Amino acid sequence: MYRNAKNVGYYMIGDGALSQLTDLLSPLRDKMPAAPAIHFIDHYFEKTELCQQLPILEWDQRIFVDTTDEPTCESVDYYTGQVKKFLNGSKPCALIAYGGGSTMDTCKCVGNLLTNPGKAADYQGWDLVKNPAPYKVAVPTLSGTGSETSRTGIMLNKEKKLKLGMNSDYSMFDQVLLDQRLTASVPRDQYFYTGVDTFMHCFESLSGSYRNTVVDSFAEKALDLTKKVFLSDDMMSDHNRELLMIASFKGGMAAGFVGVVHPLSAGLSVVLGMHHGIANCYALSVLQDIYPEPYEIFMEMLKKQKVNLPKGICKNLTAEQYDALYEASIVHEKPLINRLGEKYKEILTKENVIDRFKRM
Ligand code: ZN
Repeated sequence: MYRNAKNVGYYMIGDGALSQLTDLLSPLRDKMPAAPAIHFIDHYFEKTELCQQLPILEWDQRIFVDTTDEPTCESVDYYTGQVKKFLNGSKPCALIAYGGGSTMDTCKCVGNLLTNPGKAADYQGWDLVKNPAPYKVAVPTLSGTGSETSRTGIMLNKEKKLKLGMNSDYSMFDQVLLDQRLTASVPRDQYFYTGVDTFMHCFESLSGSYRNTVVDSFAEKALDLTKKVFLSDDMMSDHNRELLMIASFKGGMAAGFVGVVHPLSAGLSVVLGMHHGIANCYALSVLQDIYPEPYEIFMEMLKKQKVNLPKGICKNLTAEQYDALYEASIVHEKPLINRLGEKYKEILTKENVIDRFKRM
């Protein structure tokens, strides 16, 4: 009945704040001389100027995280193996993630596996991680998922056909560094799809039945900010990029109880390998009956920002694929009950769900 809630330890925000990272790391480096820092960098940045600006010392490790697909239990185990091999039994002074949700989640999950035995899949669920992870820093280069402040690292479990996170206080970052300069070069569509993730999980949380005043207050503010950004003339202006970073930060703290959008979105990720942000957009596009007002607002955002959501993505799938889409969606009991109540399967019958996918 009483929950002891954790937030991220420290956060810094500001245009050009990345220049402060060396200073933020220096007490950690002083405390553990010669201990390496492990830098998880979205592979998109591999040959860019950003890489040269990062405070990477010669004894540090650089991991370029392949974000073509979202993190899986296998990919997390693979990167954990790489880091363990590099460390060869020694301890890192810090783990730092530069990227969007996929890179940050990879860093969070690998961190837990450095101090806990077994494989990534063993910790998918709630509070299964027993030992604290090394110190972690998030430097988001994309706003919206809220991974920088949330207590989960989401992974696809291909074997179990399940998308589920490592939910734990130990998954959380100790330091977040928000610099809106880092989101200036994101492609517009990607900026939109990822950014509206905050809008999605906040309205889902606010229209659910599991409520909590603290979470509501974060979600309300984050929702207001996303409306401001995506209903404005230029969602990517300097000011709006800063607002969206703050919205994502607050939205991450409000994350937890979603609704019907995220389960359908998970289905698309599991079966079609679709990225989370755009999958959410497709999910809401067929949920007008369940979320009438958010649907209208979302359609207006799409129009205002001239973002495309091409139709027909589930048109010619096999019967097995439609079955799999249904299964990978309906398995998310908690969020579905949150919006539709215990009898959610009366509304979301198999036919109903498959029909929705066909309309995407
Ligand atoms: Zn989400």
